[in-house]
Amino acid sequence: MRASQLGMSVACIERRPTLGGTCLNVGCIPSKALLHSTELFAEVSEGLEEHGIGIGGVALNLCQLIRRKDEVVSGLTKGVEHLLKKNKVEWVKGSASFEAPDRLAIELGEGGTRSLTANKAILVATGSDVARLPGIEIDECRVISNTGALSLAKVPEHLVVIGGGYIGLELGCVWQRLGAKVTVVEFLDGIVPSMDREIARQLLKLLKQQGLEFRFQTKVTGVEKREEDLLISLEPAQGGPAETLMADVVLVAVGRRPYTEGLGLERVGIAPDEKGRIPVSLGFKTVVPGIFAIGDVIAGPMLAHKTTLDGVRCVEGIAGRYAGVDYNTVPAVIYTSPEVASVGKTEEELNAASVEYKVGKFPFSANSRARCNGDTRGLTKLLADAKTDRLLGAHIIGPDAGTMIHEAVLAMEFGGTTEDLTLTTHAHPTLPESLKEAALALLGQGLHI
Ligand code: NAD
Repeated sequence: MRASQLGMSVACIERRPTLGGTCLNVGCIPSKALLHSTELFAEVSEGLEEHGIGIGGVALNLCQLIRRKDEVVSGLTKGVEHLLKKNKVEWVKGSASFEAPDRLAIELGEGGTRSLTANKAILVATGSDVARLPGIEIDECRVISNTGALSLAKVPEHLVVIGGGYIGLELGCVWQRLGAKVTVVEFLDGIVPSMDREIARQLLKLLKQQGLEFRFQTKVTGVEKREEDLLISLEPAQGGPAETLMADVVLVAVGRRPYTEGLGLERVGIAPDEKGRIPVSLGFKTVVPGIFAIGDVIAGPMLAHKTTLDGVRCVEGIAGRYAGVDYNTVPAVIYTSPEVASVGKTEEELNAASVEYKVGKFPFSANSRARCNGDTRGLTKLLADAKTDRLLGAHIIGPDAGTMIHEAVLAMEFGGTTEDLTLTTHAHPTLPESLKEAALALLGQGLHI
């Protein structure tokens, strides 16, 4: 759409029957719809007596819960279709593969083929696919990926999740809240390896309190599909005696891999790197002039908003404008309850780079609005350069962390300091006051703790 706004004539080739890619169809959007519904279910099931609100029986209508999620998705995919039309982008329904650096062969969804020649650029934005484990076949029924986990016909009795990352935790929470016993099997010794460790430990503690179970430093070596159940073989990550677990559903969430199958990259001389990513230089240029790549198919965080950033910058670059990106200010959010949101560096990254930094923290238990709301879990943690006070990282675990992180993102985009945050007036009583308080704490001027 941005390319079209910049005056280019654009065709978008997509073979899925609906637009919006992984995020909209089987990723961010349906998972957040389920996370929201199940959070309401969990909250109401736990009761609201504290607020003086009595509730009768709480019943789950799983069909309706899933239908609502599907309606959210279809409303938004239709919206994207409308936006493409509005921006005069032609949707070519089919699968594309390179015939030449400037030419694509398209197998049309309705049958037949078509050839498209680009006189300016071809942009590869084919995304990623679930990473598979050898010998574990995903059938999206009993052994599922994120796709199957969005539409289970009944709540599993025991869901085993392989991988304690974004997908494993979010979708594990969805089914745990609806009554499933959930065991997360993680290869490493903690959840979400990319997260600041102090925050990860807090999240782990809260998830355990909610009832999720964890097996760390453990790998799954096989899943045997039996008539009644699944027999899962586990082994300590460093080797050792094997054991088994029984479950009725297994969710494979061990990461995603760039998706380039069938694209014919070899025909134009583009070789993916050792992780299957398309190498690009500044401006998202591949080694072949006129071919560009963005999103999950190149290096960087596999996040929808990072892809949007890439895409817009890429076509701006093609139009002769600035095409640089700074992934350091791309926020990441895990939509568990409470949410975890971060931007910039973690303490571990700063230590590894021998950067001298200061830390400021503020717990939500000391935030008046969190007290009013009755949810005081978590904290805000800021990291700033010890000499310049420039904000280097922000990590929030707590209610609405995903909304609050943007204040820190904006501060970092402007090269802001923690002093800037302290000089910014925050409305009282609000949750974002915790950012100002963490900044004050960092400067040794804490007021409310
Ligand atoms: P991930 O990289 O977040 O986590 C994968 C986890 O699996 C890691 O903790 C890893 O140590 C573990 N693992 C790897 N191999 C294993 C094995 N054999 N046995 C046990 N554990 C193993 O990947 P994901 O959760 O699959 O998510 C995929 C991508 O989708 C991520 O890049 C993520 O950024 C993105 N995503 C983002 C969001 C969000 O922004 N809220 C939500 C869902 C997914």
